Amino acid sequence: MHSLLIATKNAHKTAEIRAILSEAWEVSDLTVHPEVPAPEETGATFEENARIKAEAASQIFSGIVLSDDSGLEVDALGGEPGVQSALYAGTHGDDAANRARLKRELLACGVPQPWRARFRCTMAIAQSGRTIAVCDGRVEGRVISEERGGGGFGYDSMFIPDGHEGTFGVLPSEVKNGLSHRARALAKAAVILAGIRA
Ligand code: IMP
Repeated sequence: MHSLLIATKNAHKTAEIRAILSEAWEVSDLTVHPEVPAPEETGATFEENARIKAEAASQIFSGIVLSDDSGLEVDALGGEPGVQSALYAGTHGDDAANRARLKRELLACGVPQPWRARFRCTMAIAQSGRTIAVCDGRVEGRVISEERGGGGFGYDSMFIPDGHEGTFGVLPSEVKNGLSHRARALAKAAVILAGIRA
């Protein structure tokens, strides 16, 4: 089995990646590798931040590193929260506060519903401090100004993917993992990872 480090402390991301990726990979993340740094995400794009995270971790970790930079873009908000999704309300990863800000912004934006939106995910694969490949995925849908469902994380309870009536907070995790931005980026990354393993 090959070891793959996910350059994140977000247990939700790791769980989704582990559920989607083939069992040929032994997946771990930064929660069990305190020696690996989590750098500041200073990039202006998902790709820049994905590269920063993967390269920093792969300077310390001797195996293959996969990073995930992701977020929600709402057209009526000019693409916000975008790359700022994790710290939209000011504190990195405070999901409840981030959703509260999103609700306020939606109700104040003056644009009628439906509010078109998408989740985007960019993954970088790195080894020995260098990015080998970058893959991305997106899922289109709409956001709503209330929360529905307690599943998932982040903005899941406010996002309804096209073709469904329920939010990602309501839909079973198998449904989300079959069509999400993360699943689509990971499908491309998996091909590259299989080539590295071969
Ligand atoms: P990152 O850790 O800088 O990539 O920021 C990711 C942020 O985007 C998370 O903290 C969430 O707010 C949001 N996000 C990314 N992917 C998802 C998802 O699958 N569901 C809900 N929110 C997500």
